[in-house]
Amino acid sequence: MKASKYPLFTQKNEPADAEIISHKLMLKAGLVRQQSSGQYSFLPIGLRVLNKIEMIIREEMNAIGSAEILMPSIQPSELWQESGRWDDYGPELLRLKDRHDREYCVGPTFEEVITDLVRKDLNSYKQLPINLYQISSKFRDEIRPRFGIMRAREFIMKDAYSFHLDNNCLDKWYEVYKKAYNKIFERLKLEYTMVDADSGNIGGSKSNEFHVIASTGEDDLLVDKDGVGINFEIAQERYQTDSIEKIIDENHLLHKKGIEVGHIFKLGDKYSKSMKLNILDSENNNHFLQMGCYGIGVTRIIAAAIEQNHDDNGIIWPRSISPFDVVIIEIDGHKNENIRNFSNEVYEMLMKKDIDVILDDRNAKLGNKLHDWELIGVPKCLIIGKTETDNKEVTYKLRADSNKEKLNLIDIYNVLID
Ligand code: ATP
Ligand code: MG
Repeated sequence: MKASKYPLFTQKNEPADAEIISHKLMLKAGLVRQQSSGQYSFLPIGLRVLNKIEMIIREEMNAIGSAEILMPSIQPSELWQESGRWDDYGPELLRLKDRHDREYCVGPTFEEVITDLVRKDLNSYKQLPINLYQISSKFRDEIRPRFGIMRAREFIMKDAYSFHLDNNCLDKWYEVYKKAYNKIFERLKLEYTMVDADSGNIGGSKSNEFHVIASTGEDDLLVDKDGVGINFEIAQERYQTDSIEKIIDENHLLHKKGIEVGHIFKLGDKYSKSMKLNILDSENNNHFLQMGCYGIGVTRIIAAAIEQNHDDNGIIWPRSISPFDVVIIEIDGHKNENIRNFSNEVYEMLMKKDIDVILDDRNAKLGNKLHDWELIGVPKCLIIGKTETDNKEVTYKLRADSNKEKLNLIDIYNVLID
């Protein structure tokens, strides 16, 4: 990728209405633009980050044997009537009618649709367990959309669903998903914690949330000395008090603020019973299927990652989700053919080695280029000017500190792959 042909959309001005740092930096660094309340377009840099997060999630879902599907975002009201949630869900459900006056909603979650999908195709217990996931847009008409994509109305969620003949199988798979979630958040290189949680209006018997730790988080987490956590609602029930201070003092817990980025549930037979998803086992006993559901807020992870990884100059991406692995900053390449040729040589060399590299060959001042890339937050930077070109070397700099070192062409590759 060459920056001269790649619109960066960085902004000089401070975004006026952004309350938290991730929202501000996503606008300034040109990751997203607001369309309307709680709805955002992803610009090239933002979409690259989103795609990298999705790739990690896909790899870990595929690794446990969950298969990817894609369901329509507009859902018929009949399915929601069957589950009882057409009335229960309230104003967060965006409802609409088609030209025949049939009622629909824009999917905030997919338990009804997937239960319907599976019941139409299931004809033997031997097909079980079934594990499916999708990565798609969800719409929730949040009462107060805020903090940019952190609490949006339209956002991208990975939602997985599992179907089982009995509880033992659900229990086993719940643990498999839990492990996969831990792997995902470790690969994302984020400081996170898993807590026992409340099932909310999704329903079911057991649930766990995954939180990225950040001072701007909206959730109160209570974590013990072994790192085991519960969220505040569960703590209130368990310790029978509303006083967070009392719970913390009496139980020697730590109070942390978290951003909920994942939530997994044992749904049991809530949807299979109301929507009649059942099957006979080998001895002709009827079973309503046991279900699990497993969500990750894919777009919210971007904001959470920035809350945790930034400084006064901009974002500092963990390598796993950076829009590029490395940026080459060419100094005055438009004025000097040798510099242009050498920059291109380094660029081609890295491209051949499958390194995700962008060459900043814009006709712009070095200061402006450095400013943009500090803001965007690519973790590694190679600077090429006249001295470097004469000596066939580059100046190598990490985004996270101010040290610089000279590297020859062989060493560049080594620092980029570690
Ligand atoms: P919250 O408590 O933050 O409202 P939730 O409990 O309603 O979230 P779930 O139904 O568990 O959310 O959805 C799964 C995941 O989707 C959440 O863990 C979160 O990361 C993400 N998510 C939910 N609502 C939003 C939203 N309005 N904007 C962005 N991401 C969201
Ligand atoms: Mg939740």
